[in-house]
Amino acid sequence: MVVKVAINGFGTIGKRVADAVTAQDDMDVVGVTKTRPTIEADLAIDAGYPFYTAIADRKQAFVDAGIEVQGTLDDLLQEADIVIDGSPGKFGQENKDKYAAAGVKGIFQGGEKHDLTGVSFNSLANYSESFGKDMVRVVSCNTTGLCRTLYPVYKEYGIETVYAVMIRRSADPRDSKKGPINAIEPVLKVPSHHGPDVQTCIHDLNIQTMAVKVPTTIMHLHSNIVELKQEVPSEDIVKLWENTPRVKLVDGGKGIASTAQIMEYARDLGRPRSDLNEIAVWREGIHTVGKVLYYYQAIHQESDVVPENIDAIRAMMELEEDNMKSIEKTNNALGIN
Ligand code: NAD
Repeated sequence: MVVKVAINGFGTIGKRVADAVTAQDDMDVVGVTKTRPTIEADLAIDAGYPFYTAIADRKQAFVDAGIEVQGTLDDLLQEADIVIDGSPGKFGQENKDKYAAAGVKGIFQGGEKHDLTGVSFNSLANYSESFGKDMVRVVSCNTTGLCRTLYPVYKEYGIETVYAVMIRRSADPRDSKKGPINAIEPVLKVPSHHGPDVQTCIHDLNIQTMAVKVPTTIMHLHSNIVELKQEVPSEDIVKLWENTPRVKLVDGGKGIASTAQIMEYARDLGRPRSDLNEIAVWREGIHTVGKVLYYYQAIHQESDVVPENIDAIRAMMELEEDNMKSIEKTNNALGIN
């Protein structure tokens, strides 16, 4: 069976998921939408994706810009088994109603609340909860990063409490309107929403989080302290993460001292858009003292959730019951690890 996937919102996340779907042999993109005839609309056409307007009465704007439009979102839904909702956060409810009315499954992103779907997704932590489901939310880039490294530790050694600080990029690289550009801005809602969000995937994990925004666009960085249930040597944590999919250990000793060098490494790997789908963890920063684990990790916000969207399709469409098999298949198709 080849699953027919629609992409509603061909933006930062939507365009990456579209290309990742195309790279798989068990799913295909049947069309993408946009709301305005921006450069991304041109790129979608150049990539050969059937193009639809997300908003029915905007069709003429695309035609005026010389873009061939196959129809509206409603038309696209007739062609699809499942939609990746790549719209900006908060359109979720409106779009979910449209997908449900058309009898099409929907995957939402981390800008939406857990309550929208009642099921949140991370490939390692809770794949089976999405099996056969109609509406699922893939958690945000930060939450995905926390789940990827914490879940194996939680399973293997047990965790008493996590204290994590998100040092957040203030905007995506293409977004020139947001700031701060010369300040560090604490998120004053304390604790931040990230802890409860992790609990939508790892339900009984005790986790407290705070966040600050810094003037960078390229990655988030997490500074994490974890109280374990037992003493664990640092080397064992290193080995655990060496064997964890979508976690990449990086070495300060080899010149990777900051997020800038991680992104340079991603460029050198030659991945599409210079993305790094894995969570980068500094090997030297992994340190345990008694039962306490310290580590830093960096998150490429635009791309870490992309393979998770692919695995969510497989779970919801019942293509694969075993999460590790789906992860491996996705990773092989995308050249990850
Ligand atoms: P984006 O602004 O880059 O892209 C959104 C796309 O949706 C645009 O192409 C826009 O034309 C289209 N759109 C606008 N209104 C629409 C509507 N009503 N219906 C359908 N499409 C519409 O946004 P993004 O960064 O890709 O974010 C999408 C979702 O992914 C959000 O929930 C966001 O929180 C989440 N997310 C973003 C990142 C990130 O770093 N950018 C990381 C993880 C998750």
